[in-house]
Amino acid sequence: MYRNNPDFEVLILAPTGRDAEAAAEVLTGAGILARPYVSLSEVCERLGTYSGALLIAEEAMTVENADTLEKVLIKQQAWSSLPIILMTSHAERIFSAEKIIEMFSRTGSISILERPFRIVTLLATVRLAMKTRQRQYQVRDLMKQQELAVNQRDEFLSIASHELKTPMTSLKLQVQTRKKLLERGDKSVFDPDKVTSLIEITDRQVNRISRLVDDMLDISRIVNGKLSLNLEEVELRQLVMEVYKNLAHEFETADCDVTFRMEEEILVRCDRYRMEQVITNLFSNAIKYGACKPVTVSMVRENNHAVVSVTDSGMGIAEENYDRIFDRFERATGGSISGLGLGLYITKQILDMHKGTISVKSTLGKGSTFTFKIPLS
Ligand code: ADP
Repeated sequence: MYRNNPDFEVLILAPTGRDAEAAAEVLTGAGILARPYVSLSEVCERLGTYSGALLIAEEAMTVENADTLEKVLIKQQAWSSLPIILMTSHAERIFSAEKIIEMFSRTGSISILERPFRIVTLLATVRLAMKTRQRQYQVRDLMKQQELAVNQRDEFLSIASHELKTPMTSLKLQVQTRKKLLERGDKSVFDPDKVTSLIEITDRQVNRISRLVDDMLDISRIVNGKLSLNLEEVELRQLVMEVYKNLAHEFETADCDVTFRMEEEILVRCDRYRMEQVITNLFSNAIKYGACKPVTVSMVRENNHAVVSVTDSGMGIAEENYDRIFDRFERATGGSISGLGLGLYITKQILDMHKGTISVKSTLGKGSTFTFKIPLS
């Protein structure tokens, strides 16, 4: 269990006699990684990365060594409390065992092995120490994971606030301008063209905000396992066209022509709203990352599955990012194009729930094809 795990070496310091070699032999024979060291400075060098426990002979505890060891142990991380096993004897020493225990009880967890001891006692004491140490490493890993999660969350919050702020600022500006005109008694505020333009801008910005909020809510539903499906029979070609109509304005604004290759009607059993979300995400990305170049949407039947592909001729994705972009908050693009890195994650989760799959093929600078498959009805 401990062998091959570099975190779990028992460091042995017993400079006189054969104690160190003998203990190392016994421990190694029992499958525990153990090595004798000749000086405390060598031991201290290994402590940071390789320490499972320190097996130390009482006679190695000189004033200088005790001082050095205490200084090193005080610097341990919050999760770490190196198990020290002190091999004592009845001979007169510089420090009594009681004194050593007192010295190290603040900085490590110390236990006593009175010589001569039986092999079984040595093994039991070392195993117990290693178990304690293993727990400490588990705590360390958990702390690291939590730190990562907190950093990820903070980064997400800052990006999300920025993403929400952009449409909010535009809305605020529109409202403030109209308010000023009204206060001045300027009737141009009621000009039908201006009113129409205001409604269109407002509609777009409100949609953007609500899409962002929906994505955030979906993430929390997915993480908490609360995303549920409302399955019904859906004709996929019709659904694709509906989504296209909803996004027609965006395609037009991006000057992006769309070609459809969908000859036959295909029935699938799916959650209409969620499938709409899948197609919307792929279309939105084709607009966002498609460099205003033509987009092709195709749909075929293949091995009891409906296979839908969205191909753009935009910036493309490097192969090493193919998997990553389907993870939460992951983006392959630099800062120039805004986004939260949630769309493809949500898309993949929805398809997983439908027993479907999604994949990407791409050439950097030439474009990408996202293909999803779901079982036929
Ligand atoms: P967002 O677009 O908000 O960043 P997504 O989860 O939809 O989040 O996409 C994740 C990343 O995948 C994007 O940031 C982008 O780097 C990359 N990506 C997605 N679709 C395309 C595409 N059609 N072309 C190039 N890159 C894409």
